[in-house]
Amino acid sequence: MIETCERCGTQSAKLEKCEYCGKKSCFSCIKSSKRKKVGRLRICKGCWSNMPKRRRFKAYSYRQE
Ligand SMILES: [Zn+2]
Ligand SMILES: [Zn+2]
Repeated sequence: MIETCERCGTQSAKLEKCEYCGKKSCFSCIKSSKRKKVGRLRICKGCWSNMPKRRRFKAYSYRQE
């Protein structure tokens, strides 16, 4: 199924959801990701430029779960 990236409008079959704003984002809109217990924690470029969200992402560690 082709979906539309909620950040840039690119159409892709592989959109990932940003953990911090909930937007479905394409590969180029996802700034970074980390391994979670289940799946991956993702942050989009928009949330990356938001300092509190970026700090929360950087502080996240898989081992803490
Ligand atoms: Zn986001
Ligand atoms: Zn995009």
